[in-house]
Amino acid sequence: MKFNILTIFPEMFRGPFDASMLKAARDAGVVEVSVIDIRDYAGDKHRTVDDYPFGGGSGMIMKCEPVFLAVEAVLAGRDRSEAPVILLSPQGRVFDQKIALDLAGKKELTLICGHYKGVDERIRDHLVDDEISIGDYVLTGGELAAMVVVDAVTRLLPGVLGDLASAETDSFSDGLIECGHYTRPRSFRGHEVPEVLLGGDHGAIREWRRRDSLRKTAERRPDLLETADLGPEDKRILEEIEKNRHIS
Ligand code: SAM
Repeated sequence: MKFNILTIFPEMFRGPFDASMLKAARDAGVVEVSVIDIRDYAGDKHRTVDDYPFGGGSGMIMKCEPVFLAVEAVLAGRDRSEAPVILLSPQGRVFDQKIALDLAGKKELTLICGHYKGVDERIRDHLVDDEISIGDYVLTGGELAAMVVVDAVTRLLPGVLGDLASAETDSFSDGLIECGHYTRPRSFRGHEVPEVLLGGDHGAIREWRRRDSLRKTAERRPDLLETADLGPEDKRILEEIEKNRHIS
């Protein structure tokens, strides 16, 4: 899979993409990341990419021309259904695991990082295929948001995580929060690992994990239960959890 990242701060990507899973994925050739400086497509010797807003007001606006030219150069001859162009923006749909999975099925993603007061509206209306926000808050630029998207998508690609099952049981993959996990020592400052996890009874462990996942979701993110794929046994467990909560 290829990521094209359009930015006016290419240097911001150096550290984060050169360590951990993203470095391994790049070294293994599973992903290719191309960071493109939008200023290379500016039409003047000062490499200007921003200008004052029509109608006045504070803040500068990222200009259309360099962004359009950069995208057109990067995607020349590409089938846009396989290679969508995404604007990182607080006004976009909010990124989640489902969107990450969907994007992981594309061959190429082009991510535009805005800056200043934002981008000229014609970029939004006439250039991009999608607009993604990483949450209801405002960042200084789209770079950190692009890193979040690249990370979340890359770890879902086959061959990136040593044990793919570890991504399959992550929070949100099945609509629930993941169960708790423990490692050695069995006892730490008087805090014990749940007995069932030590016994080797895989059926009982599976059952405990499902129950813990349902309990955590009910406590922390009850909104997820409205859309999660729940069987009759899950519903029975949730009723029991609810009853116990009222009693205690
Ligand atoms: N004035 C804009 C607004 O209210 O929609 C915000 C501009 S913000 C200071 C500059 C850039 O940061 C945006 O163009 C976008 O690329 C990026 N950005 C800010 N918050 C973001 C978020 N929550 N998710 C994704 N990108 C974001």
